[in-house]
Amino acid sequence: MNRRSAGTAALAVAAAWVLVMLSCSTGADGPSKVIIFGVDAADWEVMGDLLRDGKLPNFQRLIDEGATGVSKTLLPLTKSPVLWTSIATGKLPEKHGIGGFVSVAARGDTVPFTGNARRVKAIWNILSEAGYRVAVVGWLVTWPAEEVNGYMVSDYVQYEQEHAIRLDRQTYPEDLFAEVDHLRVIPGNVSDDAVARFYPVSASPEEVQAAPWHKSYVKMIYATDETMRRIALHLAEKDVDLLALYLNGVDSFGHAFWHYRVNVKESPLSEIIDKYYIWVDETLGEFMDLMDDETLLVVCSDHGFHGPRRRPDGGIMLGIYMHGENGIIGLMGKGVKKGATIVDADVLDITPTILYALGLDVGRDMDGRVLTDAFEPDLLASRPVTFVSTYETGQREYGEPLKTPFDEKIKERLRAVGYIQ
Ligand SMILES: [Zn+2]
Repeated sequence: MNRRSAGTAALAVAAAWVLVMLSCSTGADGPSKVIIFGVDAADWEVMGDLLRDGKLPNFQRLIDEGATGVSKTLLPLTKSPVLWTSIATGKLPEKHGIGGFVSVAARGDTVPFTGNARRVKAIWNILSEAGYRVAVVGWLVTWPAEEVNGYMVSDYVQYEQEHAIRLDRQTYPEDLFAEVDHLRVIPGNVSDDAVARFYPVSASPEEVQAAPWHKSYVKMIYATDETMRRIALHLAEKDVDLLALYLNGVDSFGHAFWHYRVNVKESPLSEIIDKYYIWVDETLGEFMDLMDDETLLVVCSDHGFHGPRRRPDGGIMLGIYMHGENGIIGLMGKGVKKGATIVDADVLDITPTILYALGLDVGRDMDGRVLTDAFEPDLLASRPVTFVSTYETGQREYGEPLKTPFDEKIKERLRAVGYIQ
């Protein structure tokens, strides 16, 4: 190589480098990885005092460094499995087919809805088919665990805890169960000390004596969320592009202890909801720590929390009528506009927004839209929202909800919070 051509080559390299730098500085690249942190019933208003007092530093960081707003639930108020399926599919219940906690079978008996009854693809199916590695943990209505490009730990992993029964397809792949078994927390093994930060163990106030089920209830709900938290952190160590976690406790504790929070201020039970939010915030911090320069974090809830409502005749409406219309949405990380407010979001927008962020097409048959408020103008300018008519290619096999030995246990738990009769 003579001097001259060496100089030209050096120049070409320099020019290419400038181009690379330019394309980086325009922020045109979107994230290549996503973490979904799902918190059932999370509500900015319920968090209000805690945020003001600086007790939720990670939610505060989401507000300061990310784009946040209210995410409307579906109306009329509906149940969490319906909503979390809409979150994961971008579709209305009449399209996805998950109609509630339980399905009424032919002979009038009720069966909890199971994932095989879902008629459309979820974000983990779409991303799996696009070659992304996924890990889905604890998401409602995901048993039997689906074949994905990665890992699925179904919500039914918790129910085996108190039973010797081992169901098939609690995880995908099947042998993942053995790998995560030791991470499961069994409610009966949760010590009083382990829940002391939520539940007053030392005292024996009237409320505790009046409702002895409270302690075992707190242990059961905590055990489930702690199980899913541990498993999600374990799977995060593998090479995954989508990590999705669902936490239930804010909703379950809301249903059980709202009365104490609002009406019985001096009760030790009145602080359980706040204390649980603090635990969720710490957990959010752990998942923020997993982020790198390529990660988008999506924090969402399916509805807010309102407390009991009065019927026109003066009666109290519990169960889903305690759900508020305003859930939460927050995005943080690559491509997200720092400190932005997201306007007019609802639960249907999450899947389209994640697809857009990853540079994938949005399904025209999805009922949500891309939350463009959340993204950097440069990203939006360099990458318009693109569409595909549908991801529902081929026939997704679906059928009636499947019965399991846990059905009575599940229904018992749903009755305890007033979700079913
Ligand atoms: Zn819910």
